[in-house]
Amino acid sequence: MLRVAGKVALVSGAASGIGAACARVLAAEGARVMLVDLNERAGNAVRDEIEQAGGTASYANLDVTDEEGWIALMDQVRSAFGGLNISVNCAGTSVTELTFPTDTTLEEFRRINKVNLEGTFLATKHQLRLMRDTSPVCGSIINISSVLGIIGQPGIAAYNASKGGVRIYSKSVALSCAKERLNVRVNTIHPGFIRTPLLEASIKRYGDDVEGRKFYDNLQPIGRLGEPEDIAMGALYLASDESSFVTGSELVIDGGYIAQ
Ligand code: NAP
Repeated sequence: MLRVAGKVALVSGAASGIGAACARVLAAEGARVMLVDLNERAGNAVRDEIEQAGGTASYANLDVTDEEGWIALMDQVRSAFGGLNISVNCAGTSVTELTFPTDTTLEEFRRINKVNLEGTFLATKHQLRLMRDTSPVCGSIINISSVLGIIGQPGIAAYNASKGGVRIYSKSVALSCAKERLNVRVNTIHPGFIRTPLLEASIKRYGDDVEGRKFYDNLQPIGRLGEPEDIAMGALYLASDESSFVTGSELVIDGGYIAQ
């Protein structure tokens, strides 16, 4: 029995890294998946890969900070699929360089929070509307935060703030849904360090490809960097009915990094 058979899923940031892995895993487990990203070429390539593997997927180009875009996309999902059961809000960005708080510009702080926090707010708001308005209501919203939404790290206060915001925003939405007895669960995933293009710049700070990766492997208590599929398997659990009593929770997948 496939674990999300018959469900409709939306994954943002689906052209790359963690989002692409979530889209592949959800499709392999029976969901029809709407991929969303800014990178049309890479997004279409992930869609083609899913379809060649026997899955069902579509791609939509959307900047997650565009509210009108979300409204139009939800109309499209409603017409194409009749509703939405699962969303994985994964589109995100990070700092371009480490800065001391007195040197972080307002522009950089806003750039990061606009994508990571406001993008998650808009996604959740409009996905929830569609879930609420289509019957039978049955949804799972999974917002991708970070271990850096739980613990701080010097030099990246703007990113810490955005991911901490995603964490507590999601808990509040989960409780609002529960209070209304809406059958929509909202949870966050907190990845540790995962081998994706987003991490490449950080890897390069610690030497060449081999040295930088070794540095990151050794940083994890478990002895290796995470892979996008490690996160996708957590998303699959939260998306499926196996987690029907799980809402407002935070799933840390980090090789033990914040257990230290
Ligand atoms: P990634 O490989 O860079 O993938 C992120 C995707 O999101 C990219 O395709 C990117 O497109 C897209 N995107 C960025 N801004 C967007 C926007 N405004 N609208 C639509 N799409 C947008 O990064 P990743 O490592 O998989 O990260 C995915 C999520 O996991 C992020 O929220 C990140 O903060 C979180 N995370 C990652 C790690 C890690 O170690 N990798 C750890 C903790 C949390 P472009 O490439 O065109 O910008």
